Amino acid sequence: MQKNILELKNISYSYHTLQGETPALKNISFDVKEGEFVAIVGPSGCGKSTLLSIIADLIQPESGTIAFNNPDGSLHYPKVGYMLQHDHLFEWRTVYKNVILGLEINHQLTKEKLDYVDQLLIDYDLDRFRNSRPSELSGGMKQRAALIRTLAMGPELLLLDEPFSALDYQTRLMVSADICKLIRKTGKTVILITHDLAEAVSLADRIIVLSKRPATVKETVPIHLTLPDDSPLAARHAPEFQDYFSYLWEVLTDENH
Ligand code: ADP
Ligand code: MG
Repeated sequence: MQKNILELKNISYSYHTLQGETPALKNISFDVKEGEFVAIVGPSGCGKSTLLSIIADLIQPESGTIAFNNPDGSLHYPKVGYMLQHDHLFEWRTVYKNVILGLEINHQLTKEKLDYVDQLLIDYDLDRFRNSRPSELSGGMKQRAALIRTLAMGPELLLLDEPFSALDYQTRLMVSADICKLIRKTGKTVILITHDLAEAVSLADRIIVLSKRPATVKETVPIHLTLPDDSPLAARHAPEFQDYFSYLWEVLTDENH
């Protein structure tokens, strides 16, 4: 059994504005194991991004604790890689200059890191485009570039906040399958937020379903699909796929749950 690298206990959080208090998270508890791919689903505005910001240590919970147990045994906040809905590539920089941006800002342009970036550009089939501008890339290639930029920093935990939702449906199917396969190969621990149940079932080892705001954990559903290969697109044709989908839909929409 793999050990937990992340443990959240009774996390609560409210936003305070001039208009008053907005409770966003209420008593959220769950664990994430090393190398696990966890998806978090929940209604729009329920507090998913807030939860991710707390895990990334961008905001502090009002109550509750969050504990890390890194692969190397240390207990500090892990190095987090964040991927968002928009790729945030800068048009005035080439693809190469974009993927090394994080390293540049953090003064980490070492030979070792740049060699790693070169290898990722080759592995992810973007080497030919290193001198292109982002606008010359397809939606999928842009997300690959964004992933390289994220991985270049050597994150221990990847947080993905609806990274595919800006893409049209067909592109999203291809790109999410592609990117997640690449991420799986890195063996990194991943927390993916999505409002797309099919995406969650096809990609995740486990799905955490949140209630509407203030978000509580409604249920945690482990996913086991019978698969001919590990392709997320094939996962959608697994015999269990529809049952998981229907069940999650029920949990998500059941007001009394
Ligand atoms: P989700 O990602 O699930 O769509 P968020 O975590 O972004 O939801 O937001 C949860 C709730 O908190 C929403 O109702 C939103 O309006 C509110 N909220 C988010 N950010 C702020 C903020 N900076 N100030 C006040 N309220 C906020
Ligand atoms: Mg959000």
